[in-house]
Amino acid sequence: MAESSSSPSPTEEIVRLIKRLSAYVAFKMSSLFSTSTIRKLDSRSIGAIAGLAIAVIFTWRAIRTPRERQRRQPKRRIQSAESSSAAAQSSLTSIPPEVSFSHEDTAAQDVVDQFFQPVKPTLGQIVRQKLSEGRKVTCRLLGVILEESSPEELQKQVTVRSSVLEVLLEITKYCDLYLMERVLDDESEAKVLQALESAGIFTSGGLVKDKVLFCSTEIGRTSFVRQLEPDWHIDTNPEISTQLARFIKYQLHVSAVKPERTAPNVFTSQSIEQSKASSPEKLTGARMDSVSEINDNLSVEVSALLAPLPSLQLQALSLSLSCRRNIDSREYFKQLITSRSCNGIEVKQNLSNGKGVYANSEFQEDELILKDQILVGIQHSSNKVDCLVCSFCFLFIGSVEKQIGRKLYFKNMGLSGCCDGDSSESEEDGCVKYNGKQEQCGASSSNHKSLPQEVVSSLMNGEMALPYTDKFPLPSPLSCPGRCQEAFYCSESCAQKDWETSHSLLCTGERSESISREALGEFIQHANDTNDIFLLAAKAIAFTILKYRKLKAEYLNKQAKQSVPKQLLLLEAWKPVSIGYKRRWWDCIALPDDVDPSDEGAFRMQIKDLACTSLELLKAAIFDKECEALFSLDIYGNIIGMFELNNLDLVVASPVEDYFLYIDDLPDAEKEEAEEITRPFLDALGDEYSDCCQGTAFFPLQSCMNHSCCPNAKAFKREEDRDGQAVIIALRQISKNEEVTISYIDEELPYIERQALLADYGFSCKCPKCLQDASVV
Ligand SMILES: [Zn+2]
Ligand SMILES: [Zn+2]
Ligand SMILES: [Zn+2]
Repeated sequence: MAESSSSPSPTEEIVRLIKRLSAYVAFKMSSLFSTSTIRKLDSRSIGAIAGLAIAVIFTWRAIRTPRERQRRQPKRRIQSAESSSAAAQSSLTSIPPEVSFSHEDTAAQDVVDQFFQPVKPTLGQIVRQKLSEGRKVTCRLLGVILEESSPEELQKQVTVRSSVLEVLLEITKYCDLYLMERVLDDESEAKVLQALESAGIFTSGGLVKDKVLFCSTEIGRTSFVRQLEPDWHIDTNPEISTQLARFIKYQLHVSAVKPERTAPNVFTSQSIEQSKASSPEKLTGARMDSVSEINDNLSVEVSALLAPLPSLQLQALSLSLSCRRNIDSREYFKQLITSRSCNGIEVKQNLSNGKGVYANSEFQEDELILKDQILVGIQHSSNKVDCLVCSFCFLFIGSVEKQIGRKLYFKNMGLSGCCDGDSSESEEDGCVKYNGKQEQCGASSSNHKSLPQEVVSSLMNGEMALPYTDKFPLPSPLSCPGRCQEAFYCSESCAQKDWETSHSLLCTGERSESISREALGEFIQHANDTNDIFLLAAKAIAFTILKYRKLKAEYLNKQAKQSVPKQLLLLEAWKPVSIGYKRRWWDCIALPDDVDPSDEGAFRMQIKDLACTSLELLKAAIFDKECEALFSLDIYGNIIGMFELNNLDLVVASPVEDYFLYIDDLPDAEKEEAEEITRPFLDALGDEYSDCCQGTAFFPLQSCMNHSCCPNAKAFKREEDRDGQAVIIALRQISKNEEVTISYIDEELPYIERQALLADYGFSCKCPKCLQDASVV
């Protein structure tokens, strides 16, 4: 595969990125309507909440202290008159000449347009927003909600079945419900509405009259349903159910006689009250059952994958198959430690809290204990506009100019810098200044000065050079060998390793080895739209599948005559992922503050449903029959849960920050000369000049480190740590055989708060500090 790849075209990369970020931008739009009650949580806000995954945060390098930042602050505030020419107003929708969206990218343009729309949403947006909330259900009236069974009867009288009321109200609690019926005249229509109103269906607030739709033919109802695209449709007409089976995910066919099931996604019941599918939890649950149904026969395999290592059964298996590979986890950790050449530590089973990392030799204060390589990691989608990094090792790539140019380009489009923190904050500091009025006053009051697009483009394309950037050389970016124009690498070796370990299955380019690039695109979009932890889970699954295939090939080469122990090979491939402590995501995720505890069940259900949707999309993209067990909802939930419980922030310091600090530290004469050129760029970047690469990653050895509120080690990035690896440094002297601990939280917090935070990790801390505090409390 890895044929030598050309440097990416900035245009194409940007178009791609905008496409990917469209969901993100849409999210920004939707957050304008943000609400805090569970009822109104759509999948996006759930994802956003879920995205607040607990993570061990790296302490920043000593040099990046607030003092440094403060020192820079006043400088940017002083806007020199001469820089104002460079900071000429750029038209907001102007696109640099060489970047043309015309051929393929009306979609990208739409996103840009959407973003620049006035903050007040249009009616259409509000309606769309409303429609996207929760699950949608459509239901006919006759024979389901009403006693009557024909339009003719409705001309005479309309009777709402009283038993149905409670179910309806329950459905509207979680779902967007539409009622529809065929009527013969306007009078029937009025009668129906009157009857529904008298029954109290509109008073609960869940259903409004506008959502009761009337038509004059049965076909009319079919087209209503198809236009509304509900998750569930409830009907009594078997023909309609059959016709809709291809288009609608699930249907409930209400019928007095038990008809034969016409399609796997059509369920039958005598009434909605009696239907197993009528409760909203079931409405979502049924779908999950359909996922787990397939996996019934895999339950043994699934539980083997979830079993902690070493398992006796497996050892027996491995012996009986005389497999040379040792399944023992101690052996595995030994290999890991050797491969990372950090021989001062050992992973041991400890009686109280499972695995732990122990010192094998003595460590002095500030000494490096461990540099742990990423098993799987991702840069946050929103961070991609801020930093261009290697998709495998997360080293910054390109050049200082390219990093700055790219970032300013996105910033001018309103995409950069608004990604973390809430929008109100960015509005205050002038980030959102794209309507004419704010732009004008922003120029005088804000310290963000935009540069002409030509300048930004020439910086991005390497036509313009800044002084002293040769002191900060970065590897030139290599495009993905699969030609997706979304992944870039610092070297051939990173490109190849990424391709072999996960990207070949997850690449959206023409050489992708996925089953369906279209499905893959949908999966990625959904993840960006909800929670990018799904991308991490997909990487773990792709990693396991590819490892499995490799092991199988090796095995076939060596022992061609024996049948391949599929299950054993899969377990072996899975081992790196298996070592992480796991719980199912929807069980372990912390309940967000703004979700009422009484809504916890519904919240967890929605989280589970979100995972279920994501898994279905992933299956369509990379399913492998031989690794079927990996695609069970249980495994998927456990992988995500593992990231939830074990992840570590992925941070890499930006060379752009270093560059500006370097300029700042130059001797006066040189500094003045250099700043004449660099100051407009620093001014345009504002505080974001120091944005680092941010993401989430799983580090196999670091994840074995236990927590203590008086830790003897910390995650800490030193000046020389320029890629995504986890770095663990001794906080004090550590003696041989002592357990190495880090703090998962801010250990300076009061006891009660610490315990509350740690409860999210699923344990209560009994470190010396906690024991002492507990005795006082
Ligand atoms: Zn790399
Ligand atoms: Zn690719
Ligand atoms: Zn503690």
